[in-house]
Amino acid sequence: MILEHYIDGAHVPSISGDTFTSLEPATNRPYLTVSAGHAEDVAAAVAAARKAFGDGPWPRMPAGERAATLRAIAAAIETRDERLAALECRDTGLPITQARGQARRAAQNFRFFADVITTLGEDVYRVGSAQLNYVLRKPVGVAGLITPWNTPFMLATWKLAPALAAGCPVVLKPAEWSPLSAGLLPEIMEEAGLPPGVFNLVHGIGEDAGAALVEHPDVPVISFTGESATGRVIMRAAAGHLKTLSMELGGKSPLIVFDDADLERALDAAVFGVFSLNGERCTASSRVLAHAPIYAEFTARLAERAAQVRVGVPDDPATELGALIHPDHHAQVSEYVRIGVAEGARLAAGGARPPHLPEGNYLSATVFADVTPDMRVFQEEIFGPVVCVTPFGSESEAVELANATRYGLAAYVWTSDLRRAHRMAQAVESGMVWVNSQNVRDLRTPFGGVKASGLGREGGRHSIDVYTAAHIVHLATEDLPVPRFGTA
Ligand code: NDP
Repeated sequence: MILEHYIDGAHVPSISGDTFTSLEPATNRPYLTVSAGHAEDVAAAVAAARKAFGDGPWPRMPAGERAATLRAIAAAIETRDERLAALECRDTGLPITQARGQARRAAQNFRFFADVITTLGEDVYRVGSAQLNYVLRKPVGVAGLITPWNTPFMLATWKLAPALAAGCPVVLKPAEWSPLSAGLLPEIMEEAGLPPGVFNLVHGIGEDAGAALVEHPDVPVISFTGESATGRVIMRAAAGHLKTLSMELGGKSPLIVFDDADLERALDAAVFGVFSLNGERCTASSRVLAHAPIYAEFTARLAERAAQVRVGVPDDPATELGALIHPDHHAQVSEYVRIGVAEGARLAAGGARPPHLPEGNYLSATVFADVTPDMRVFQEEIFGPVVCVTPFGSESEAVELANATRYGLAAYVWTSDLRRAHRMAQAVESGMVWVNSQNVRDLRTPFGGVKASGLGREGGRHSIDVYTAAHIVHLATEDLPVPRFGTA
């Protein structure tokens, strides 16, 4: 069986007939053939979406009716949540318990944006009694959605739900390493009664199908999640068309622990932050900055905890750390382990394939201690189960170290000093800071990064802003004074 594109309500192969093969991360055996889209397939998908935008019912529907369809999509996801989790687990190597959590979040994304769109008002500005200015939020047109391979279904719905809520037809290009779960979306959308042409899916290689979507003149908005380097390529290509861009990019987020923190809770957060989701998490707390008085103890306990993280086959409910997505990625993460050792970092835990898992993309939970800011393992996003620990002496040094990379997605601060918590929270360069908390998401809150971690914010009404344009009507409610050039 071939996993095909879905264009204008129909499953279709690539016009060229080209395909690519997907590997199962737990074994690296090929198990899925996928249609490889090119520019002509993207063009067909955009044409269907463009038609749905131009004369279809979706953009014109009252928000309440669109919301009802979004809730039906959530329900259709929920009735398939076990299947979805199983597909995601097999396709990405994520532990099954965590894949289940991601499937639940996918349904929540649709329910949440159904609520957002039915409660979001539009603004009115009264100019005395003479003029009324009101703002309409209009869907911008066809939305191009490009997603990465980590938590692929949840991240696709994080874009699909607000784009559809806003009234935009979409073309989704999932990552080539994890296309499987997106293959369930057509039946979900059909069951929920989404009109044909509103949801379109084109599989393929980023530099080919993804680039064609970015280059297409009838796609005014691109929402992209992926690496900062790819983001740069996309911005360059989109500049020619002056497209709206929402860019959620890479990270190298610090978790800063002061000596007055609740160390047990900080440890829980550190372990969860970098080893859950196989460490393939954009907001992973991949740099731990530990206050000098507790540095030795915290590092030793982090290493102990890392050694206890259960690495295993993804479909075992006891597994905490599964298989990395692809042999190339496994090789890249393993290369960072080699680089860290060569740079002089101290390997305090992990760093190798667990002996009981001879095949597949497995790596033990890895802790590097005595890491300094000049090291590549401190500076570069590894996107795997590898954490670097660095000591700091003073609050100002903690800030300096926290801000010493090109990234600025998330940060985590652990201290029991309230004033210091606020000072730190405001001083770190990141889109988001959690204080005395692990990464907990509230879908209303703006999500996104600064520096090389992204542009724009999504979440709640911020997502709706991405997919709508403000259309302002200025209306005279009385005769205005006759305009004179001298008053201009
Ligand atoms: P990539 O940037 O490699 O790929 C992301 C998507 O872009 C894929 O669908 C890819 O296709 C496609 N793509 C690649 N090249 C182009 C191009 N020239 N034009 C258009 N599309 C293109 O990221 P990964 O898939 O490797 O994902 C990991 C990255 O994602 C990490 O850096 C991580 O931090 C980041 N991320 C950020 C999040 C955030 O919210 N800030 C959340 C999750 C992940 P293909 O699969 O064929 O390469």
